[in-house]
Amino acid sequence: MVEKILTQKMWPLHRATRDHHPMTVIVNNENEILAPTAWPWAQGRPARDCWDDWATAVARWCVDHGVAARDVVVLLPVGALLPVARQAWARAVGGWLPQIETVPTLAQSLAWSRGPKAPSSLNAELGPAPTLDVVLDRLLVTRSLGAQAWGRQWMQRDRRAFEHAVAQVVECAHLWVRVAQSCPPDQRVAYWETCREALRVAHAASAGPGARERLLLAWALEWAASSDDGHWPTDVLFGHQARAWVGVTAGETVVPGSESSVMLAVLRQAALQGVSALWMNAEAAPAQRNDAPLPALARCTDFEDEAQRATALVLSAVQQARASGGDPVALIALDRSLVRRVRALLEGAGATSSDETGWKLSTTRAGAAVTRLLAASQPRASTDDLLDWLKSGWVQWPEQELGSNLDAAVAALETWCRRHGLLAAWGLGLAQELSSDLLPEGRQAMPELARQLWARARQTVQLLASLWSGGRRAPLSQLLAQVALALKDCGAWQTLADDVAGASVLQALRMNPEAGADAGAWPLVASDLRMDGQGLVRWVDQVLEESSFRLASAAAGDAKVDVVVTPLTRAVLRPFSAVVMPGADEGQLGAMNGIPGWLHGAVAEQMGLPGKATMRDAQWASFALLMAQPSMSCLCREAHGREPLEPSPWFERWSLHTGLTLREQADARLWLSVPATPVRMPRPSLRRRDESGALTTVLQLPLPAQITATSYEAMRQCPYRFFARHVLNLRAVDELEEGVDRSDFGVWLHAVLQRFHAQREDGALATDDVGRWTEAAREVTRQQGLDRDGRRPFFLPFAATLERLAEHYVRWLHRHESEGWRFAEAEEVVQWPMALSSDLGEDTTVTLHGQLDRLDRFAPRGADDTAWTVIDYKTGSLDKLKQKVRQPLEDTQLAFYAALAQHAPATADPGDPDRVTDAVSALYLHMDEKGVTPVEHTHVTESAQLLVGGVRMDLTRLLAGATMPALGEGTACDYCEVRGLCRRDHWTAPEAQP
Ligand code: SF4
Repeated sequence: MVEKILTQKMWPLHRATRDHHPMTVIVNNENEILAPTAWPWAQGRPARDCWDDWATAVARWCVDHGVAARDVVVLLPVGALLPVARQAWARAVGGWLPQIETVPTLAQSLAWSRGPKAPSSLNAELGPAPTLDVVLDRLLVTRSLGAQAWGRQWMQRDRRAFEHAVAQVVECAHLWVRVAQSCPPDQRVAYWETCREALRVAHAASAGPGARERLLLAWALEWAASSDDGHWPTDVLFGHQARAWVGVTAGETVVPGSESSVMLAVLRQAALQGVSALWMNAEAAPAQRNDAPLPALARCTDFEDEAQRATALVLSAVQQARASGGDPVALIALDRSLVRRVRALLEGAGATSSDETGWKLSTTRAGAAVTRLLAASQPRASTDDLLDWLKSGWVQWPEQELGSNLDAAVAALETWCRRHGLLAAWGLGLAQELSSDLLPEGRQAMPELARQLWARARQTVQLLASLWSGGRRAPLSQLLAQVALALKDCGAWQTLADDVAGASVLQALRMNPEAGADAGAWPLVASDLRMDGQGLVRWVDQVLEESSFRLASAAAGDAKVDVVVTPLTRAVLRPFSAVVMPGADEGQLGAMNGIPGWLHGAVAEQMGLPGKATMRDAQWASFALLMAQPSMSCLCREAHGREPLEPSPWFERWSLHTGLTLREQADARLWLSVPATPVRMPRPSLRRRDESGALTTVLQLPLPAQITATSYEAMRQCPYRFFARHVLNLRAVDELEEGVDRSDFGVWLHAVLQRFHAQREDGALATDDVGRWTEAAREVTRQQGLDRDGRRPFFLPFAATLERLAEHYVRWLHRHESEGWRFAEAEEVVQWPMALSSDLGEDTTVTLHGQLDRLDRFAPRGADDTAWTVIDYKTGSLDKLKQKVRQPLEDTQLAFYAALAQHAPATADPGDPDRVTDAVSALYLHMDEKGVTPVEHTHVTESAQLLVGGVRMDLTRLLAGATMPALGEGTACDYCEVRGLCRRDHWTAPEAQP
């Protein structure tokens, strides 16, 4: 079809237009008819004084041309200048005001005169005309090109290249439409012909864009031209019969396609028709006095230094403005990331601001409410995706249990997933409910609240399940309805609708019917275009990236704030107390960046499209005007990372142009002397101390309710670590890491042994033990999800040793049983309450708590008494275990478990429940693929007795106010998760002495 356009429409055009260039004719004539009148902005002159000059000059011009001010229409370049111009007129001239407008406001006020739009037949090849809405137009182009066989094939073969081409087609079409809008309606036919001719010449010479691009450009041009039906909103300006026109520009160079270019076109047409028209062009001018304030430049060392110095300058100007009731301070947004940092610092200092640059919806939390939901709904979503969505702040299920406990439930789910290395969010089962046989049980079980949350989240994402079912494609409208349903189901919909940014997101995605989603060409594309889940995700990302969000007050420039964050071109001609422009380096200001896209160079020039030089000249004019402001401070840094940076070359150009020299900007930061506060070893206590340091009777923190072998070991190694981990209950958040480590293997092994012994008691023969052990191992592997795709490769090294481990263990077990021992209990939880009292009056009870890996009973036939042995399974270093039991009083774990075993329900004498048995031994059972080795702790009951006495004494001392100093050393500190709290790296042991 595009070939057809080129052959049918462009060759005849060549014959018709070869002898003249319509755009050239128009421009030459216009320049003769409407010349700019200089409106000087003297260096250092306040903006309001310049505006007073403007009002006086316009009033004089009205008198000279015999028109009453009230009959004049004044057009300004930006809406923020409307109140400034009106006030200036009232101040300097008084009486009737001219009608002061911008191009959009005048077009809106004249909209009534446009008349009804005649229904036009739809061009079958081009489809609906462009709407200048990037999102909608991209869909229209996708639909139109995708309807052709080559387009469909291209889309299937290389989707990204196709999407890039669609974006380019839309961008070029919009550019043409905007430039065409600044042509009077009766000259547009000539304009479109000029564009066709330029494309045809480029096509014939194989110059400019590539062949496929040229064909698509030809299509885009016809598509753009199809929107020219005389009903563009700004067309009414060309038909408006004003008595006189006045236009204002900031600099003589006007970017084609901008509002100012429409304004000049209206003025030119009026002048051609004999109507009085005045073009007031603001331009920087020399100072009127010798002591006129000059702009200043600060060289900063790096990004943070620049952000801090810019903040200090803004704050100092804000203080002065507040004191004098002056205008806000302008913060020029050249470098977005730098300005974000400055804004954060300003907010921290209490300054209010209005951001006229806006935020991309993709960077807002509201945008994340949709993108996170889509990410979490994918079958292969990671746990991080799920947690990101749950933590996005928009999810709010109305259910009683979750509604009030959502944060706690998310925390519980996160902790559990991290502990179990659950990387795949939905890896626990595809059913709506958690599959119980896939979930660990006992001490590995998922907490109930987390289980409820997981199931409820799953229920919501199931609403989007069809998006991901085997590349199934559905109409966009249907997919968006599903997303809306899921947003409603998780309670995010209403919150989004009530939020300003959220409402913008719903509107940008056409999910809010009240926002006109049903209007225009949208229903057509939304029902015609079909996408799968991945396509929808890409589309949502694109829409949010393309759409910006600005508060209405900031968009209108009327916010009553301390600081206005604004782009350079929007700041021009506005009165500000001061202007601060950080990021004024060679990379940000005046850089000669190329214009992206397919249309540039000679082809663009022939079509009257904005070129690099035009853009740069327009920006230079704005910069020169801004530099004339009385309080102008620029900042730039010497390096960006390792890359050295120079100030913008425009500063030198400005100096050459004006003959002035920039001042050096002083550092406005205030210096504050802070006395040195050396860090000392922390020595917290459960009791409060008075001002003299003496202990009071006030207990500020309780003892932990439970003491385990691990927590008591922590106390022995370092009291401060015990304080942080067990008194304050602080925990490091585990990383969600792929793989299976030794601790996962340990958890698996405990579960295998428990299952093996539970099944073995059922009366099976001892000869089947290896097979039974292997079977138990397989069941547990399945139960713990270690055979699933994501984890199987990591578990393979452990699985490979499974048979050998079984043989080693069974061989040891048979030897152990031949000595008369029998398995009694596995994973038995024992709680032994210990009453404590202190001299300061508090009595409390602390429970010694532990879960015994295994308890074996020795009861040979004919023996009077039963003996017990506590077994603790280990998979780490055998040498370390042997070293541990060589110094029995240093080994906390077996002694602790032996003390608990003496009080375990299993060892209780049914005849005398208060009697505690002394017949308890203890051993570590070390297991790996090389063998199973028992490491016995001899005299464990004596160690247990001493340990229990030690626990009682230590806890009583803590209760009495003893300090918990950071006494850890060596490996205890090397692997300590609270090292950042005790500041171990900021003091040395000798320094820490009181
Ligand atoms: S780093 Fe060392 S001194 Fe500090 S808390 Fe940990 S174990 Fe104690």
